[in-house]
This record gives sequence, structure tokens and C-alpha cells, in this order.
Amino acid sequence: MPTHLPVVTSQRRPPDAAPPSSTETTLLQPTEQSSSLRSDGARNYVHPADVRGRFDKARNIFFAVLVAIFAALPWINVDGRPAVLLNIEDRRFFLFGATFNAQDIWLFFFVLTGFTFGLVYLTAVLGRVWCGWACPQTVFLEGMFRRVERWIEGSREIRLRRNAGPWTVDKVWRKGLTQLVYVALSMLLAHMMVAYFVGGKGILTMVTRSPSEHPETFLWSVGITLVTYVNFSWFREQFCLIVCPYGRLQSIFTDPDSYTVGYDAKRGEPRGKAKAKDKGACVDCGRCVTVCPMGIDIRNGMQLDCTSCMGCIDACDEIMDKLKRPRGLIRFDSLNGLQGNKKGILRPRIVLYSTLLLVGAVVATLAFRKHTDFEANLLRLRGAPYVIEGPNLRNAFEIHVVNKRSGKETFDIWFEPIQGASFVVPLSKVDVEGLQGVRAPVFVTLAQSDFSGDFPVRIHVRRQGGSTEKIVVGMFLGAKAGSMR
Ligand code: SF4
Ligand code: SF4
Repeated sequence: MPTHLPVVTSQRRPPDAAPPSSTETTLLQPTEQSSSLRSDGARNYVHPADVRGRFDKARNIFFAVLVAIFAALPWINVDGRPAVLLNIEDRRFFLFGATFNAQDIWLFFFVLTGFTFGLVYLTAVLGRVWCGWACPQTVFLEGMFRRVERWIEGSREIRLRRNAGPWTVDKVWRKGLTQLVYVALSMLLAHMMVAYFVGGKGILTMVTRSPSEHPETFLWSVGITLVTYVNFSWFREQFCLIVCPYGRLQSIFTDPDSYTVGYDAKRGEPRGKAKAKDKGACVDCGRCVTVCPMGIDIRNGMQLDCTSCMGCIDACDEIMDKLKRPRGLIRFDSLNGLQGNKKGILRPRIVLYSTLLLVGAVVATLAFRKHTDFEANLLRLRGAPYVIEGPNLRNAFEIHVVNKRSGKETFDIWFEPIQGASFVVPLSKVDVEGLQGVRAPVFVTLAQSDFSGDFPVRIHVRRQGGSTEKIVVGMFLGAKAGSMR
């Protein structure tokens, strides 16, 4: 195996293994003790210590902004509708003033692929920052639930001491209160999530009424509350390690120039006491390990568990500051940077990903530009495909116009003339209420003697005051004089 490639593994390093040398850092695996999951599948419950520092401060601000956006979106109105409302029951989706219906579902392909590819690109450049900074699992766990634990149960040392001790009154009320607040937070998050499907006002109305008036929504809320509670009170980092596929795939998208959180083994090893002259910069204080929410030792090299939360950087910087040594023994850098090699920015992977991202963005922009604020479809009326009325053939259609705006709109309907054919459009102007549809009949007649084969009929629809015009096409069917289909 080439030694310059990052190794991301969940295999366990033997507990009695020697510390890593500067050159083997990227190849080492976590020790049995330094992971939340042991090799026999049992769990090492993680109790991360508090850490203060520039990344912690930035992350807290970022978490607060993300939670505020998440909470606010169903409440903010754009064009009279919530900024984001996914009305599955009526198959209507409101996104920042635009309305999408079931016929626009293909556009979600671009949303999903755009998000996925954006994540791949981000990983290639900045490693797993999504996990440590923006993933809902981290934002809610670190930004809300872990905070509650710290406020009620105290620092890591106090928590560990209390956990190991007997069940005293102090332990019972603190543990009980923590779980109660977890349940309350889970309920709050569940309602915030459900608001995306029923709207902010909708959820407010529902909570003031009996669950029997909205049983499905109530059951969804209960289910999400339960899953949220179990996940954030107990499952926690195991979700990232066992369930989430992204963490396992990250090594495919990174290379030695992708940024990651890493330990400068060249500078740090051999680790030892601060006063020892023949030792590296790492004083083996273990602070970087105790603050890690994944329970790993970053000095063992790049690991599958690491979410790039950067807590260990703050922790080690704190120690280096105290020792009056330069910061950055653990830092956000590429593997090449950590090993003192030349760093590459414009490498083939980034050029390829950038090109693909650009092509995808152009295609998605064109696709979204095709999205209009109304829909029109030409349908054949039920019954026989055509009728012979004396010397004439008659086809009956109906045009279905859907207004995707929230207010009432008027639409003009007209046809493209066809030699010999006569069109009857009884409703050349239709008023359609907001988010409603209207059907208008269209009749086309042709002398049977002029019919030489099926041909298309084109109907135009345009919203009054709008520039977008839709042309819907149907086939005029018939039979030549003297023949029957
Ligand atoms: S190793 Fe460092 S960056 Fe990675 S999860 Fe642990 S504390 Fe966060
Ligand atoms: S915090 Fe820094 S000095 Fe302490 S063990 Fe970790 S790497 Fe070594």
C-alpha cells in the first residue's frame, strides 16, 4: 500500500502498540481504548470534556445560526406562503416563493444530486467539515443536547465520578431532570420538523387542539419525538459510526491534499514530559482525547470516526499556549501539509469535480428556468377518441390549467389554426383561483373528406400579464371516408 494515501479505518490498533512514528502516522489505526466502539462490538460510552477556543466559538455561532434558520423557515412568509412548506397530502411544495406540484417532482432530482455532489466536492477540498459543522446530527447533539447534560450534570470529571458512584438523591434528580429536558427538546425538534409539512401556523393550531382531530400528524410527531430522543440521548456518535454511509465513503473522495484534522507527528513525536529535552512537542497530556466527542485519539492518524469538529485543535492549542509553544501541533491541514510536503491545490480531482459541478449547475439552472408558475395539459375527453357527425370528424379535448400562484389569475387560451379544421374554445379566458385548477373544453372539427391521417393540434395558454406561454399538443384522430378503424 502506498504510504502517502490516507487510511480511513475502523479496525482496532492493539492496546499495547507503540506510539506512532512521524512517518507512519497516516497508516495507524485507533487503539482499543480510543474509540467509541470496541472490536468486539461493545460500546465505550463517550463523555467528552468541555473545550474553549476559536473553533469552538465559531462552531457555536454557526450552530445557533443553523438552528435559527431551521426553526424560522416554516414561519417566514414569502408571497403569502411559508418560505418552505412540503404539503405532501396535496402534493404542493413551496420553496421561497416558488410553488412546485407533483408534475415538478423531476426537479428534485437536481436538488438531490446537487446536494450530494456539493458534499462530495466539499469533502475533496475540506474533508469532513460537513459532519462536524453542519450535519443535523452534530448540530442538535453538540448545540443542544450535550449542553443540557453539561448544565445539569456538570463537567466531564464530575459526571464520570457521579456515574461511578451510588444512586444518591443528587444523582437521581440530575439524571432525571436531564432526561426530562431531553424529552422536551425532542418534542420541540419533532414539532419543528413537522412544521415543514403542515406549516408554522398549522402546527400551532394543531397543538392547541385534540390529537383526535389530526391523528396522522400526531402519530408522526410522537414517532419523530421517540427517534430523536433515543438518538440524541443514547445512540449519539454511534449514528455517525454505524448508520451514516457518508463517513464510510469519505476516503473515496479525499486525497493527500484534502484538508482534514491531523496531528503533526514529525513535531509531536516522540511524546513525553514538557521538560524532557529529547522529546517532541506532544506532552502526552491526553487533552485532545478527552475532548473528542467520538472518543478517538487523533494522534493515531486519520480515522473513520473523526468528524472534523476541531475540538482537539482547540484543546491542543490551549496546551501549547500554556507551554508557550507554537500552536498547530494538531491542526486543520492536508496530509501533505502535516508531513511537510508540498501542497497541491489545483489537482486533477478538483479540476474534474469543479468541471462536473459547473456542468451540473448549468443544467440545473436551465431546468429550473423551465419551471413556470402555471401548468397546462391537454387531455382527450372520455369516451370515443373521435365522433363522426354527418360529413365531419369531431375530437373533444379538455385543457387543464393549474395556477401555482397563491392568488387568483386569469389565463388566455387560443389555438394554432389548421387549414380546413375548425376550433371551438368556449372558454378562451379562464379565471383560476390560487393553487387551484380549471378544466376548459376544446372541440376540433374537420370534414372527413379532408382527413388524410392523424395530425397534431396545438393550444396556447398564457397567464394575463405574464410572458411565459405554454403550448400543449394533442393528436387529432379520425378515419378516412369509407374506412373504419
Ligand atoms: S479527532 Fe478531533 S476533530 Fe476528530 S472528532 Fe475528535 S475532536 Fe473532533
Ligand atoms: S493535546 Fe496536544 S500535547 Fe496534549 S496529548 Fe494531545 S497532541 Fe499531545
